[in-house]
Amino acid sequence: MDWLTQLLWPNGHFLGVAWSVWKVIGWAGNVVFFSRFLVQWYATEKRQQVVVPPLFWWLSLAGSLLLLSYALFYEKDSVFIFAYAFTWTVYIRNLLIHSRHEKSQIQCPACGHKAPGSANFCAQCGAKLLKETQNP
Ligand SMILES: [Zn+2]
Repeated sequence: MDWLTQLLWPNGHFLGVAWSVWKVIGWAGNVVFFSRFLVQWYATEKRQQVVVPPLFWWLSLAGSLLLLSYALFYEKDSVFIFAYAFTWTVYIRNLLIHSRHEKSQIQCPACGHKAPGSANFCAQCGAKLLKETQNP
């Protein structure tokens, strides 16, 4: 068991890291940023086509902001700061586009399937779709 202690707590530090609040924030950013790949991989395998779910963009945003704050306030390294300074704009843009797309969808009254706002019939069950502006 001495080898395990040496592996996990070398030089008296867990995993050899001199932990501080900023180290926890930086590592949390790494874990959140990495986890988005698992989310995207799972979504893609589930649908058997390349899928980028909204959770991917939320994790990208959270991870990049954690890493940006770590870079700004702890590392104070210009290369590291620049790497995360502007990425959040793309993540927010993609979340807004996704939100607009979701709002434009209409739900089939018969089966609950979501269809594009321009559709007249449900692709899932063939039922006539009711638009909000239409009277039944
Ligand atoms: Zn339907």
